[in-house]
Amino acid sequence: MSRFASRELNDYLRERDKLGEFNRVGWKKCAEFGIHGLPVPKDYGGLGVDPLTTVGVLESLGYGCRDNGLVFSINAHMWTLEIPLLEFGTEEQKRKYLPSLCSGELVGGNAMSEPASGSDAYSLQTTAERRGDRYILNGTKTFASNGPVCDLMIVYATVDRSKGPNGISSFLVERQSPGFKVGRELEKMGLRTSPMAELFLEDCEVPVENRLGREGNGKNLFTHSMTWERSCILASAVGTMQRLLELSIRYANDRKQFGQSIGKFQLIGSKIVDMKLRLDEARAALYRTAWLQSKGKSVFLEAALTKLAISENWVRCAEDAIQIHGGYGYIVDSEFEREMRDALGSRIYSGTSEVQRIIASSLLGL
Ligand SMILES: Cc1cc2nc3c(=O)[nH]c(=O)nc-3n(C[C@H](O)[C@H](O)[C@H](O)COP(=O)(O)OP(=O)(O)OC[C@H]3O[C@@H](n4cnc5c(N)ncnc54)[C@H](O)[C@@H]3O)c2cc1C
Repeated sequence: MSRFASRELNDYLRERDKLGEFNRVGWKKCAEFGIHGLPVPKDYGGLGVDPLTTVGVLESLGYGCRDNGLVFSINAHMWTLEIPLLEFGTEEQKRKYLPSLCSGELVGGNAMSEPASGSDAYSLQTTAERRGDRYILNGTKTFASNGPVCDLMIVYATVDRSKGPNGISSFLVERQSPGFKVGRELEKMGLRTSPMAELFLEDCEVPVENRLGREGNGKNLFTHSMTWERSCILASAVGTMQRLLELSIRYANDRKQFGQSIGKFQLIGSKIVDMKLRLDEARAALYRTAWLQSKGKSVFLEAALTKLAISENWVRCAEDAIQIHGGYGYIVDSEFEREMRDALGSRIYSGTSEVQRIIASSLLGL
């Protein structure tokens, strides 16, 4: 896996990062390799492997592929669209969409965030009104990953504001649906090869058969999707951290100052040890949660802790890698600054670090 990733997915990364360009060829290659369909049963075009195997493969992908944006796009597609579709979709919906999602022919994601609702996701304003055999959606979504290149999105909207979170439903919205408009592309500081956009729903028509799950079940569906996402989305970051650690050890051994390798200075050695400790903590959290999921256990707490541990450790690992590489680490060519920019996003998407702490503290009984 990591050999495929390093050979096939890294070409022209600097240029694509600068231009904010999605690697559609890489996307297709990953799909052909089977990545997009890892957790999807073979019946629907996937590989049907268990969560522990899935995160192991994604970790290798992150080790070999330096294009964190491409990997992020694949993750958004898997955890926010394929998994809820698999869990809550009708047989017809699964047969219609999953094979093309696994083959990479369709690109997807989800649209929950809005200009006025982020962490407080269930205060969304987008409405869905049933009219005969369709729903009419109205509202504005933002921060939609894969939005500019999407073919299919899960859009969350309320059918009854008076019911609060229990009025939220979710819909499979195809790009060509009347009234669905992809707005401006949002330029990000990191993960620049993963495109993001605003989405506008202007009397957007969605057939009733494209409602995902029952009416009012959007909160459950989103929670389910987020639990998977928080458990698995940063598996690739563990591979990235391993790569950053190895590069840092090599550099610390090779680079000489004051007549010796900088790795012999205890202050540098201790940074390397901290990187290793953080990597081990991240990997242990990842594997434990995936193992529990493979056993069918509920992992609300573990998912929040996994997301929190890996994202925070990834950022610090990238920071240490830059510091160990000195001036070279700060130069764009070295690619460590890109790793840092990419890592910072992980503290925000799928619920911020603060939100993970709030979830975890409440699940711990506070
Ligand atoms: C790279 C990236 C990809 C994304 N992809 C998607 C996507 O595909 N689909 C989608 O719907 N959304 C997506 N998002 C949006 C993401 O889910 C939101 O950015 C996130 O939920 C935070 O919401 P917000 O940005 O509105 O920040 P806010 O909720 O406004 O938070 C601002 C700050 O306040 C803090 N805060 C908020 N509430 C509390 C609280 N109760 N206690 C303590 N602190 C609090 C936050 O932690 C944060 O530090 C993406 C974001 C990023 C960065």
